[in-house]
Amino acid sequence: MNELAANLERIRQNMAAACVRAGREPSTVQLMAVSKGQPPEAVCAAAALGVELFGENKVQEGKAKRPLCPGRLRWHLIGHLQSNKCRDALQFFDCLQGVDRLALAQELQRWAEKLALRKPILLEVNVAGEASKYGFSPERLLAEVKAINALPRLELRGLMTLAPWTPEPEKVRPVFRRLRELKEECEQLLGAPLPELSMGMSGDYEVAIEEGATLVRIGTALFGPRQNWKRPGAAAGD
Ligand SMILES: *Cc1c(COP(=O)(O)O)cnc(C)c1O
Repeated sequence: MNELAANLERIRQNMAAACVRAGREPSTVQLMAVSKGQPPEAVCAAAALGVELFGENKVQEGKAKRPLCPGRLRWHLIGHLQSNKCRDALQFFDCLQGVDRLALAQELQRWAEKLALRKPILLEVNVAGEASKYGFSPERLLAEVKAINALPRLELRGLMTLAPWTPEPEKVRPVFRRLRELKEECEQLLGAPLPELSMGMSGDYEVAIEEGATLVRIGTALFGPRQNWKRPGAAAGD
């Protein structure tokens, strides 16, 4: 077995074990392979092993990489989205996970209308209130979720968060628990279920699953260190 296959096998086993601990069905948690920085060959290799969902944090990188990775793969944008990239984000991704402000949602709505498409989105929440991270504060989320849910071209599917980095994943359990509670509070406000909770990365996905994650975003534990892949013709620092 090569390294990628061994990593994938170990991650799948850890995911299943976390589901058992939490009394959940393993089929209720999706694995996203975070391919940012990785060359298209890495995506193809993961796809050949049965991975179907990929995450990129930059619009231009995802736009360039996707056509180089054939097959019925799904791609989510998981990074911060600038308003001037709404059009490409809508055209080249199946779901936008980093929607972090009302004005951005409104801009996406305008472009989706022009492009005549409807797009699933997740709202990014800065649960721990870190100055270095994007995302709605919990208060803003609860104040604005109804207005976002009312935008007809966006299909609000749930919430996502990035937990603070720590070598001890147990420490971020309260962050994941809070995101689940916020999802429930949003569901009450909307009177409708929000199916997705995107939380957990290489270092903390098992705790995230125990706290209710439906989608874990895993990069380095699967692919190894990021390789700084650049799209053909990209300028330095691009
Ligand atoms: C890079 C990234 C990940 C994956 O991080 P790893 O620690 O490599 O698993 C997950 N989510 C987001 C939003 C990211 O930017």
